[in-house]
Amino acid sequence: MAMNLDGKRVSLHWRRTKIVATLGPASSDPAMITRLLRAGVDVVRLNMSHGTHEAHREVYGHVRAAAKKLGRHVAIFADLCGPKIRCGKFPDGPLKLTPGDEVMIDPRVDNGGPGLIASQYRAIARDVKPGHRILLDDGNLELQALAIEGDRVRCKVVFGGLLKDHKGINLPDSKVSASSLPPKDVADAKFAIDLGVDYLALSFVRTAKDVAGLRRLIARAGAATPIIAKIETPEAMENIEAIVEASDAIMVARGDLGIEMPAEQVPLIQRELINLARRRNRAVIVATQMLESMIDHSRPTRAEVGDVANAALTGADAVMLSAETASGKFPIRAVEMMDRVLREAEGYQWRQGSFSAAAEPGEAGMSLRDGVASAAAALAHDLKLQGIIIPTLSGTTARVISSYRPTAPLVAVSTDPAVCRRLSLNWGIVPMTATQSEYGNWEQLCHRVARSCQLTRTGHNVLLVSGFSDDAARNSPMLKVLRV
Ligand code: PEP
Repeated sequence: MAMNLDGKRVSLHWRRTKIVATLGPASSDPAMITRLLRAGVDVVRLNMSHGTHEAHREVYGHVRAAAKKLGRHVAIFADLCGPKIRCGKFPDGPLKLTPGDEVMIDPRVDNGGPGLIASQYRAIARDVKPGHRILLDDGNLELQALAIEGDRVRCKVVFGGLLKDHKGINLPDSKVSASSLPPKDVADAKFAIDLGVDYLALSFVRTAKDVAGLRRLIARAGAATPIIAKIETPEAMENIEAIVEASDAIMVARGDLGIEMPAEQVPLIQRELINLARRRNRAVIVATQMLESMIDHSRPTRAEVGDVANAALTGADAVMLSAETASGKFPIRAVEMMDRVLREAEGYQWRQGSFSAAAEPGEAGMSLRDGVASAAAALAHDLKLQGIIIPTLSGTTARVISSYRPTAPLVAVSTDPAVCRRLSLNWGIVPMTATQSEYGNWEQLCHRVARSCQLTRTGHNVLLVSGFSDDAARNSPMLKVLRV
């Protein structure tokens, strides 16, 4: 079969899949942040595992200033460390682990040395059982627990290498009993809420109760910051339906997920999580190692390009860059590359007439708002509408419509800039602010929005959708086709 992809290429004006960039030493000065936003970053991640509060406060200010200068709504989220287990220090240099050797893990000491690894997690001997695997340094080194000796765990080295200070410890076979919100997370969360971040991401979520715990902390701080649950443990997968229900968005945190679960399962888990999140109208971010080789090289591997394209083709809301933008040599090129790969994949989907298969109604049929959202997507496709304009006070209507991945661009209009910033994470949404007085007159608002976004030439149609609510009593969906 002859194939000419090039002759029929389409490049969409608005990229639908959003780009999240982690900021760090390579990307924290104001000029670099402005360049990253210009290159296409929609959402910024502040990683609480690194850096001081003062440094995060400064970067936060730079992002807000750059977004304002560019007239863009950019969301910022703080990523809390969660109960990540780490080893202590090795004052005499990295510890050499040789396969077959025995080594002791001891939570009572701060420093390791020959035959000894210090654990910062006090209860390691309570959670680990003989036979369990203990993975070190992102799974590059592996131990097997031989015996529990009081607070300590005696282990045999299975896969060896050099172990450096503070490397991560993963316990894929153990039920970890560490608190889901360690004291550092409580302090970081309070700091980030006070700063005004748009989302808080929670690491190593195991059950919906973990999300509820953070939700209570946020409420006690007098805020309503939405929560991104990072899915990275087998326990989270066991409780996934309830976790998605309890969260506002999820992240497929493939770095730890691929250590805690068999790596070969991660692509399928990613696909399932994207579908599940969409069915529940939650945004889903695919994260980690997306363009990993661009930390050091100016070009990605072809496999990485395929990974980014696959995330778009299978319907992710957003894709995330970690060290590529935080500490890599080519942060801008990485964002530009991601932008080009996503546009190419989306242009192809657009030409095929669909961004991804619509969610199937369950046995009980669809809810009213899902039915209306599905109809809106079908109308936009069948009537070749130029855009869908969504007045949305809380963002709910826009999020539900976005889950159906309509072919027409989605412009979400809110009077609240915080709602606009949050919506910058959701697939396909172009957020815009409106004044209170404009908000009541939707037809006039549609004309203004369509004109300012150049959504339509005179005589073409747009779709107005409004009125979805999480509160069933206030849910009164409305669809209207308007000639602009
Ligand atoms: C991950 O594990 O993939 C992840 C995103 O979490 P972190 O970068 O915090 O390790």
